[in-house]
Amino acid sequence: MQLTLGTSTDGLDGNEAERRLTVHGPNILPAAKPRNAFRRFLSQFDNLLIYVLLAAVAITLALEHGIDAAVILAVVVLNAVIGFVQEGRAEQALDAIRGMLAPRASVVRAGRRVTLAAEELVPGDLVLLDPGDRVPADLRLVRSRSLRIEEAALTGESVPVEKSPAPVMAEAPLGDRTSIAFSGTLVAAGQGAGVVVATGGDTEIGRVSALVGAVETLTTPLLRQMDGFARRLTVTILGLSAIIFAFAVFVRGYTAEDAFLIVVGVAVAAIPEGLPAVMTIALALGVRRMAARNAIVRRLPAVETLGSVSIICTDKTGTLTRNEMTVGAAATAAATFEVNGAGYDPSGEVRLSEEKVEPAEHSNLIGLARAALLCSDASLRRTEIGWVVDGDPMEGALVAFASKVGIDVEHLRQETPRRDEIPFDARHRFMATLHHGVDGEAFICIKGAPERVLAMCDLQRGPVSDMPLDHAAWRVRVEALGARGQRVLAVAVKRLSSASSDLTFTDVEGGLTLLGLLGLIDPPRAEAVTAVRDCRAAGIRIKMITGDHAATAVAIAGLLGLEQPEAVATGQELDALDDATLRCRARDVDVFARTAPEHKLRLVEALQADGAVLAMTGDGVNDAPALKRADVGVAMGQKGTEAAKEAAEMVLADDNFASIVVAVREGRTVYDNLKKVIAWTLPTNGGEALTVIGALLLGLTLPITAVQILWINMVTAVALGLTLAFEPTEPGAMRRPPRAADEPLISGFLVWRIVFVSVLFVIGTFGMFFWAEWRGLSLEETRTLVVNTIVVMEIFYLFSVRYQHGSSLTWSGVLRTPVVAVGVGVVVLLQLAFTYAPPLQAVFGTRPVSLTDGLTVIGVGVILLAVVEAEKLIGRLASRSRESGH
Ligand code: ATP
Repeated sequence: MQLTLGTSTDGLDGNEAERRLTVHGPNILPAAKPRNAFRRFLSQFDNLLIYVLLAAVAITLALEHGIDAAVILAVVVLNAVIGFVQEGRAEQALDAIRGMLAPRASVVRAGRRVTLAAEELVPGDLVLLDPGDRVPADLRLVRSRSLRIEEAALTGESVPVEKSPAPVMAEAPLGDRTSIAFSGTLVAAGQGAGVVVATGGDTEIGRVSALVGAVETLTTPLLRQMDGFARRLTVTILGLSAIIFAFAVFVRGYTAEDAFLIVVGVAVAAIPEGLPAVMTIALALGVRRMAARNAIVRRLPAVETLGSVSIICTDKTGTLTRNEMTVGAAATAAATFEVNGAGYDPSGEVRLSEEKVEPAEHSNLIGLARAALLCSDASLRRTEIGWVVDGDPMEGALVAFASKVGIDVEHLRQETPRRDEIPFDARHRFMATLHHGVDGEAFICIKGAPERVLAMCDLQRGPVSDMPLDHAAWRVRVEALGARGQRVLAVAVKRLSSASSDLTFTDVEGGLTLLGLLGLIDPPRAEAVTAVRDCRAAGIRIKMITGDHAATAVAIAGLLGLEQPEAVATGQELDALDDATLRCRARDVDVFARTAPEHKLRLVEALQADGAVLAMTGDGVNDAPALKRADVGVAMGQKGTEAAKEAAEMVLADDNFASIVVAVREGRTVYDNLKKVIAWTLPTNGGEALTVIGALLLGLTLPITAVQILWINMVTAVALGLTLAFEPTEPGAMRRPPRAADEPLISGFLVWRIVFVSVLFVIGTFGMFFWAEWRGLSLEETRTLVVNTIVVMEIFYLFSVRYQHGSSLTWSGVLRTPVVAVGVGVVVLLQLAFTYAPPLQAVFGTRPVSLTDGLTVIGVGVILLAVVEAEKLIGRLASRSRESGH
């Protein structure tokens, strides 16, 4: 393949990249066409209930009941419109979230390493690959180090393939083209760099996969469960309707025509047609609220699971802490220096025993800073908001420190260029670089976790010359720095006799000279402290899993206020435990230090076996198995790899622990709202249906006609039921323990509530009916009163349902959601029209209601509310006395 891409080691410059972007177009795969709106609307009619209703329309028309037919049709169309609009909004919400998760790529442009949206890549761009990256375009590799790429996305083969720049035959099959990294494949290990040869639809994956990104449907196990429930209910109600029809015709002597109309009314009254749609909306709103607070849900079932999370396992650095590091202490063999200065500002002073010192007079301190600097990749940049780091924040701190002791950073880096390196990896916990000095000598700089680096050293740099390493003394000093909550790094060097230009693990196995230790300050995030406190109130246990030293981890855990900050288990200790012991240990301990990513998986399994529902954070490619296994895998949006994000259920846009807690709160809210929707819908449906069935059984005149039932459903299910999807979090939502994972949505209590309220509705309806009849009102007037009573009871019950866990009788409770006020306002206006507007009177057979009767109707609603609230209060008192009895 002969390509003239006109690139260099500095990559493309911005203008050229822009020009190419206009020529080649953005680097995206052709997306699946969104469904056309008309078909989406039609699909709303594809549902058992709608078929039944359409059949009813046909039959009523045939029976020449135009009004009934029109009202049923109106119900059908209204439902379809709402379904259509809501589905559209839900899809929009998902699209917006997808936009927030757009993949990014590391690219060299005009000599600088920058991170871009993968979409902006153009042929000729020089792309850098790290473990966990999704390859953003087809790349011709120019450099690689143990690069292994998993090509399952393309070839279906899940064993990673070794890749290197060595050329292969032009006609080699896809699987053998080892010098090309294909778009969409995943970097499993190692590093590499490659030049973009194809983007977007021109890539191999663009060619093989016809259309990607099929529309995800907005559903979760719970919604499916409810869907099934609604379907079964529909079938049961249809069966019941047949029986009622037979009973009305054969026992009560109705004409088939009248009986049919009644049955249609009962069926429509009883079937919760709006329920699945409203539940979907509640879920979509939850997803949107979470996204607004930086928690991006990738898999919808997570919204439900979040509400029942009982343990959150979290990384420390950057999630609980700010990941804005500063060197606070530097220890050489002779002394421990204190360093001050804020953030990455490269100015600050060095002190020894409270006295300011001149760093240049302490050559060992300078030596320590030089090695630390050479073994770092980060650079500092001054911006309007102050100094910022390009690269790893910890390395940024080392660069700032080097400046503080008076080193000219750029000069030193140019004078002793890097020839090779062993990059940092959480498994070996150190990083090493090979340099050539001005006079041609070669030396290695190493920085890393103290245990690791100390084990490679035999000597330490003394005041005059190198001397044998005093292991024990250094260990004490590591502990002392860790106990202050500082992350400790050890720095060492090794002089090489030959000017080699390759660095291998054998080179660093031994014979190093320890220069000293650096203590890095990384304060806890203020909001993490609050979030930890909120979690404890909400019965959620936080476990910190960190690669850091035990002493550091314990100190930070104390500052954060974890439940058991003192008890700590190290990765090594976990390795020695069998599964049963690990289960106990994992339950009791909150701080896990010096862990490797594999430990996360074992911990997840142990805690799950113990019955916990857990959220687990991660960022690296090796965290992916644990994220997948956890009930809610949480990936970091900023420092997380694509591999981690893809394995996770949720991505944190701001990498902040507090956002997880916000998501848990929203998860609880969504679940509460789903329950509220059910608790409101089912009894109101049940009450209406029971009223008609009761009247038939008892041989009474029907208190409401079929069209009136349809009216009630049309008006209230939409305007009132929907508002419950918008309910904000209840005040006590984060003060109760997590819900049990296996708790059914329709719990025994909810069933009781549904029956109880249905019965109250029947009593209210019949009470009003008999009272009106007794006073000698006409049948039309009586029915108008009954319809209004049902609607008013639904309104008052709505206010009660809004607080499942507390009293609704507070002003703030009544006024809390503007949506509710709007819903109620609309219903009131419609009811007034229904009662007083002549055209509607003609359609529904209604009559005007007097003011006193109107007030009585409202009185019935108030009584209903009082009774339901009294029941709630008794329930609360009973559960409180049960708790105190324990
Ligand atoms: P957490 O799990 O809390 O997020 P972490 O993942 O940052 O912590 P690791 O990255 O595994 O922890 O780091 C473990 C140890 O490795 C650190 O305590 C430090 O001593 C060392 N270390 C971290 N980063 C580097 C680096 N860039 N170069 C050398 N050593 C490093």
